Amino acid sequence: MEFAGKVALVTGASRGFGMRIALELARRGADVALAARTIEEVPGNPPGTILETARLIEAMGRRALPVQTDLADHEAVIAMVHTTASELGGVDLLMNNAGMGTLGDVSETSTFDWNMILAVNLTSQFLAIREAVPYMRARGGGAIVNMGSYLAHTYPDPADPDPVAALSTEASGPGITAYGVTKAAIERLTIGAAADLAKDNIRVNCIAPRWTETEGLNTWFPSLDKTHWERPEDWAEVVAVLMSSRADNLNGCIIDSAEKERILAVERGR
Ligand code: NAP
Repeated sequence: MEFAGKVALVTGASRGFGMRIALELARRGADVALAARTIEEVPGNPPGTILETARLIEAMGRRALPVQTDLADHEAVIAMVHTTASELGGVDLLMNNAGMGTLGDVSETSTFDWNMILAVNLTSQFLAIREAVPYMRARGGGAIVNMGSYLAHTYPDPADPDPVAALSTEASGPGITAYGVTKAAIERLTIGAAADLAKDNIRVNCIAPRWTETEGLNTWFPSLDKTHWERPEDWAEVVAVLMSSRADNLNGCIIDSAEKERILAVERGR
């Protein structure tokens, strides 16, 4: 198994992308630390807890470490990395996945909400990278994947009959501004960190999915037609490839949906 003996840390591992990515890395042999806030189901919230993801990983014979963490709390993010290293023996692979959206258009976004989304989506990624790097250096290198979004560069046209356009208008304002700003910054974080850390044999890449059917979006927007949405399992496979030695030549790359399909075609044709 390609990740046997490796330790992975995945944020937002209670459900959605993060849960699938954690399972995929474990399936390929990694022990996995699982960070998120939810340790028991809360009525009305999307399903999934880090304890449940841990049970699924342990059933595969891997070690799983639930690390309850609120990524809005900078000290907690730092502690999350050190707990992972002390309990599982190091950090080789980091998936900065967790994220949140905001409510209201730019004229309605409070300073509190603006700072919150920056903390959860962006600053947590920076802090996790900074704290994980010494552990990766100690083990001769590592791989990091950051969660971006196609909304870093655009937003759905509100006049578009696609229900996603209505969703964005209803939830975050048509511009999805605060969210998009964090995702654009994550791309710049990715290319900068990739340049900084190449000397340490640490690669940093970013994935930029389009609309994807996850527990979060299913809970908040149950009635939308998701027939043409992407599958988080496909992206989990892409993350595993990006973290593997088959992607040794990929550093500082932003993987969009078209690139995802190319990677999957090669991977599944092996
Ligand atoms: P999801 O099903 O709602 O999962 C979100 C995850 O993030 C959960 O595990 C949640 O855990 C965690 N999280 C949120 N706020 C947190 C906080 N303050 N502290 C710790 N963990 C926190 O959503 P998803 O669709 O999988 O989204 C995951 C990532 O993919 C996000 O960065 C999102 O921007 C990105 N993305 C999603 C789509 C899409 O269409 N679904 C497209 C492009 C990019 P707890 O609630 O347990 O804390």
